[in-house]
Amino acid sequence: MVVPLKQEAMSATSPKRVLCIEDNPTNLLLISRIVEAENMELLVADDGLAAQALLARETPDIILMDINIPGISGLDLTRLIRENETTAHIPIIATTANVLVGDRERCLSAGCNDYLPKPLDIRKVRALLRQYGSS
Ligand code: MN
Repeated sequence: MVVPLKQEAMSATSPKRVLCIEDNPTNLLLISRIVEAENMELLVADDGLAAQALLARETPDIILMDINIPGISGLDLTRLIRENETTAHIPIIATTANVLVGDRERCLSAGCNDYLPKPLDIRKVRALLRQYGSS
């Protein structure tokens, strides 16, 4: 019996799921294109409360966290994600537009794994998705 290659590939591994927490439609569109091109699945929350509600029922493989979001700061949300045992292990990549001295350190000490300043560099987003999506 001949199994179509695509079907075989799909049954071998399910696509990685990326939760994008982002309130800027332009950044969201950019990220959604990169995620789609990587054959990953996109979950979206446009504020901190929506993100918390989503994380109560879904466990994504990677989180792209805009630090400046309505409802709760991305840093506080990162701390909450790290305190919850079902989400503590999820890699979090922080992004921020108003880059301040010490942003990177603040993000990392809150529990983020990596940090990307905006405007987002497509190649860097793709590289980090591949890095954290490969495990
Ligand atoms: Mn924002």
